[in-house]
Amino acid sequence: MQIVRVALDVPLPTLFDYTVDDAVVLGQRVIVPFRRSQLVGVVMECVMFSELAVEKIKPVVRILSDSEPISSKLLALLRFCSEYYHYPIGQTVIPALPARLRSDKPITVKHEYHYRLLDGAPPIDLIPQRKTAARNMVKMLALQPCNLQQLKTVALTASAQLKWLIEAGWVEAFEVNPLACLPRMHCFANAHKLTDEQQQVVDAVTQTSGYRCFLLHGITGSGKTEVYVHLINRVLQTGGQVLLLVPEINLTPQLEHYFLSRFPVATLVSLHSGLSENERLKHWQQAQSGAAGIVLGTRLSVFAELPKLSLIIVDEEHDASFKQQDGLRYSARDVAIFRAKQCGVPILLGSATPSFESYHNALNGRYEMLKLTGRALADANLPEIKFIHSKQTVMVDGISEVLLREIAHRITRGEQSLLFINRRGYAPVLMCTECGWLSDCKNCAGKMVLHTKDQRLRCHHCGYQIHVPTLCPECRHPELLPVGSGTQRVERVLIDRFPEARILRVDRDSTRNKRTWEAMRSKITANEVDIMVGTQMLAKGHDFPALTLVGILNPDSALYSSDFRAAEKLFSQLMQVSGRAGRADKPGEVLIQTEFPDHPMYRCLQQHDFEGWAASQLAEREMADFPPFAFQAMLRAEGLVEADVYAYLNMAKLAGVKLNHPVEIFGVVPASLARRANHVRAQLLIQANSRRVLQQFLRVWQPGLADLASNKLRCSLDIDPLEF
Ligand code: ADP
Ligand code: ZN
Ligand code: ZN
Repeated sequence: MQIVRVALDVPLPTLFDYTVDDAVVLGQRVIVPFRRSQLVGVVMECVMFSELAVEKIKPVVRILSDSEPISSKLLALLRFCSEYYHYPIGQTVIPALPARLRSDKPITVKHEYHYRLLDGAPPIDLIPQRKTAARNMVKMLALQPCNLQQLKTVALTASAQLKWLIEAGWVEAFEVNPLACLPRMHCFANAHKLTDEQQQVVDAVTQTSGYRCFLLHGITGSGKTEVYVHLINRVLQTGGQVLLLVPEINLTPQLEHYFLSRFPVATLVSLHSGLSENERLKHWQQAQSGAAGIVLGTRLSVFAELPKLSLIIVDEEHDASFKQQDGLRYSARDVAIFRAKQCGVPILLGSATPSFESYHNALNGRYEMLKLTGRALADANLPEIKFIHSKQTVMVDGISEVLLREIAHRITRGEQSLLFINRRGYAPVLMCTECGWLSDCKNCAGKMVLHTKDQRLRCHHCGYQIHVPTLCPECRHPELLPVGSGTQRVERVLIDRFPEARILRVDRDSTRNKRTWEAMRSKITANEVDIMVGTQMLAKGHDFPALTLVGILNPDSALYSSDFRAAEKLFSQLMQVSGRAGRADKPGEVLIQTEFPDHPMYRCLQQHDFEGWAASQLAEREMADFPPFAFQAMLRAEGLVEADVYAYLNMAKLAGVKLNHPVEIFGVVPASLARRANHVRAQLLIQANSRRVLQQFLRVWQPGLADLASNKLRCSLDIDPLEF
């Protein structure tokens, strides 16, 4: 009999001991009794002795051997995360697994169909010229057998063509185990000849052996993706695996298709929360078995098993969505860096606007800076950026005449315009012109947003909604005025002004369903849209060749935000969205409506001067002792009773002060949204001048926090917080 120490998804910072008679290995899944139920856990340690009395230790109910055990490397990574983020080990390990592995439902590997050419299949000339799709597929199958997903990259109608090819007796289907590492041909399609700058980047990364962190700072359109493709090519040639982390689930189908089109016979799997449980399990297992050469995923894919990992790429590394905002509050970028170190492989962080953390590390030599300073396509230039002083110009419902005229020009020239506004809905607040009543949310400290499509006031924080009142709820005055602009209002103005134009609104309301967004994107690319109105969804990573005008409406609020990162985020967002204009042969123009055209941030933006902007901001941060010159942890609490929330945080503060560590403990303050869904929210910031000092403090301080909180409070500790 031996004792195993098991990770369980329960909010306690320990492993749990069980006895087991049969042979069990580390990383294996087991079913164990816990309180009055049974849970699936993962064996983290096998030991001879337990601190518990033998008779108190219960036996393992069952060992699950229908999946490969979790590797000790991945377990070590998860242990590191649990320690670094001060989060219970079980709640770190178990949620990192695909849902199917968290349950005891039996796991079977379903075979899938591949297709191959039959002996005596005809030379390509026998297939009629007009059947281009079938010809492309046969060319690809001549390289090696493929699955449907791969065939779809060369033929949209792959399913229909397959049927035809099979009936003609040229192709046959056969079953394969998707987890098998089949001998793979390698094929690299449509490789561009790299520019000198791109080549240097590729060389720098391929010439390193072992761990090294590179920051690829390349302006929008400089060909970062092409660099990734060439690097991935090297890895696939040698039979390794690449982990490619991307920020947005919205971008994955598009990227998946793109990378498959470049590596038509590679096995690429995606990992993100939009997959079904079975798909996610299959992809995870394909990564685990080594069958998948490319793993493309959002932040959670940083915990994929990758036995042949040879390179990690983090695209848009500055993006805040790499940070998980609940449970284990990890930064996938930072975990990826740790993982690269652990596995001794290079990691490339790419961005047109790196986070100041990464940029600072590249300046001080911890990372290696690589730059792409020119656009890859010779005739594509950076757009010209101009400002419209919103206090000194004629405005039509929030949009200036100048901008409207420019849009009209684009319409006559058959080019596209994009209006960017970071607010969905019609207007951010409704106001009574008589008594000044504002549409406050009854549950939150925020305002309810006016949505005219369904005549509702809706809170974007808690989801509470009501019908738009016809009279002021305070004074019964009949005149209620929408204040400010959101996407719906901008759309309205455009429809009134350009009744003939094809206008498309892209925000979370109009793209609830993933397919809608895909369909919208194809419409834009096919130039079936004249004007797009959208939020940040439109800012990221899309390539719209006919887009030549970007209008940015009133982005100023970030300049006086209490969040010290707001300006950094705004700059990078504006740089991204500006980068959408003029990607092809037509020059692009960006018009920004602002009250502060002389603000240094806008000046740098106009010059496309990230370096200058970063230098000025880093200098300010250093003076003020802010990250990346300081390291932070944030203790947050929320609860129904204000006094409880503050009492807890104040006790936590006091406990911290008593420890007498060289960290700075700030005062307890309300969160930026001080009340949400009726819960009062407050926070306590801890700061140190090194990660090590901060961690030392947290190691002694954090374990005592649980005893201070009543179970009525929701508390969390956020290491390296991004939200304030
Ligand atoms: P980024 O990811 O930096 O925004 P992309 O990789 O999307 O840039 O490249 C921008 C455009 O330039 C794309 O249309 C791409 O196909 C093209 N491109 C990139 N590298 C090259 C190259 N070496 N030669 C020709 N075209 C290139
Ligand atoms: Zn009123
Ligand atoms: Zn609310």
